[in-house]
Amino acid sequence: MKKNKRNKKEDAPLDNDDTLVDMFNERLRSHLRFCGDNGKIWLRENRMLLVHAQARGEMRREIIDSFGLDSARALFFRMGYASGVRDYEITRVSPDIITDVDAFRAGPLIYALEGGVKTTIKKLEIDSKAGKFYSEIRCEHSWEGQAHLRYYGESSEGVCWSLTGYASGYTSAVMGETILWREVGCVSKDMDYCTLIGKPIEEWEDAEEVMRLLKQSPIDVPSLGPEALTGKKVPPVIRIKRPSQLIGRSQIFVDAYKLLVQASTSQITVLLQGETGVGKEVFARLLHSGGARSKKPFVAVNCAAIPHDLVESELFGVEKGAYTGAQASRPGRFQRANGGTLFLDEISEMPLSAQVKLLRVLQEGEVERLGGTKTEKVDVRLVAASNIDLRPLIEEGKFRADLYYRVNVLQITIPPLREREFDVLIIAKKFLKRYSILYNKKLRGFTDKAKQALLDYPWPGNIRELQNIVERSALLVEDESYIEATHLFPLLSSDDDLGFGIDMSGGLTANQKKYGKEYCDAVLSGKLTMDQANTMLLETALEKAKGNLSAAGRLLGLTRAQLAYRLEKKKE
Ligand SMILES: [Zn+2]
Repeated sequence: MKKNKRNKKEDAPLDNDDTLVDMFNERLRSHLRFCGDNGKIWLRENRMLLVHAQARGEMRREIIDSFGLDSARALFFRMGYASGVRDYEITRVSPDIITDVDAFRAGPLIYALEGGVKTTIKKLEIDSKAGKFYSEIRCEHSWEGQAHLRYYGESSEGVCWSLTGYASGYTSAVMGETILWREVGCVSKDMDYCTLIGKPIEEWEDAEEVMRLLKQSPIDVPSLGPEALTGKKVPPVIRIKRPSQLIGRSQIFVDAYKLLVQASTSQITVLLQGETGVGKEVFARLLHSGGARSKKPFVAVNCAAIPHDLVESELFGVEKGAYTGAQASRPGRFQRANGGTLFLDEISEMPLSAQVKLLRVLQEGEVERLGGTKTEKVDVRLVAASNIDLRPLIEEGKFRADLYYRVNVLQITIPPLREREFDVLIIAKKFLKRYSILYNKKLRGFTDKAKQALLDYPWPGNIRELQNIVERSALLVEDESYIEATHLFPLLSSDDDLGFGIDMSGGLTANQKKYGKEYCDAVLSGKLTMDQANTMLLETALEKAKGNLSAAGRLLGLTRAQLAYRLEKKKE
């Protein structure tokens, strides 16, 4: 994991370069936000906690007394290590940091801001390119040392485990290799300050033993399970086995899934209702694969993507010469789905004439090709889907009532993503894993602020939009980094260098409103018609995607077919 190739600057002045310290401190502080009204503290993209040193000291004592010194040391070291790595992520984007020395010096500054210790760097040799590191630092006011003294008295060895963990995590992240710090002097040994030495792990004699500290070793406490409290055996949580495409534990989603499972065991005609991008086709495919027809074909048709005058020949087939352009006889989707399932998406877009024919096919189980004379038996399970309520269309005369009752025997409503509050992060993580593999990157996950942004966003394009946004972020972000809020929602970064011009207590929607407002003003003042705006949007997307319809569709949250259809419509 080699990275961070900065300029070599080994013998930089360490004590008299206050400009960098001031500049960095000021910038750091500007990234610290106290949002008391929604119970959050932010340091850049990280959610922070302000804890009582006294309470932390008492917790430390309880952990030592309950689990022993070794486990406690390992635990605090790892906690510190994780914080150090995270803090490096905070500093690495700062424009003030140019050299290895700068990168290293930012660590003690941020740790000091967090109330860790006051650090003086006594010696520093750093060259990340060559993998060379040696440093000695002096740390004052360690809360750990003081807590240890208070409860246990003087100690024969260093006790500032989260401090050494932090220094190790931070420096390892800077260097791109494991650097281990240890205390050679500690306030718990009756010193005025702690002295730490850091060097690459292989240069320590007992490297293997300390590596144990770095590894996760869950504390084994058999007596503290739920059984120990009640004396009863706790039954395992029963989970419905679900295919990997369908994840989520929001009740509203689980209910829809249960209905789907029930429906798949019968031949009942199902109408899937749900907004664009909620996964209607995924549901339809599962209905097919979970039932008796799973070995037979599944054929999907998006009614909105087919020009009206071609819907009938697409669905029912055509004989040669039935109309100009029908140069060969071919079967329709009904025949191709014979024995299996036909999925009709966006059925509301189907023209009335095709609706009449569809109804007849469903009633009689026979298809007649366009321009043909003989009928053909078909055995097809129909699954229809719509992103709008069909009932108003019946009143408007755009959808046949008899067809509606025929396709809507069982209706399953798939909830929009914004109503599945528990699922957004689970699904986002799944997509991130998928695209990390696809783009061959080791991404570390989402920052706290990115997670917050994912939860705050209303997801009008649902899962498909979430997927597109995660894919784009995974593609654009640097290897081995976190996905930040501004990677997900680039508009967030428009106000300042690091994207903190917006208060997260409602910033996203406010920002969207701001962008939306310009558009509304333009349309309402007659400077731009809605049609022109839409055309511009489609054309700009096409331009950006260099004419590639699929890619342009992804930018707009549409499928290739939907975009093609919309472009076609423009020409009419
Ligand atoms: Zn110490």
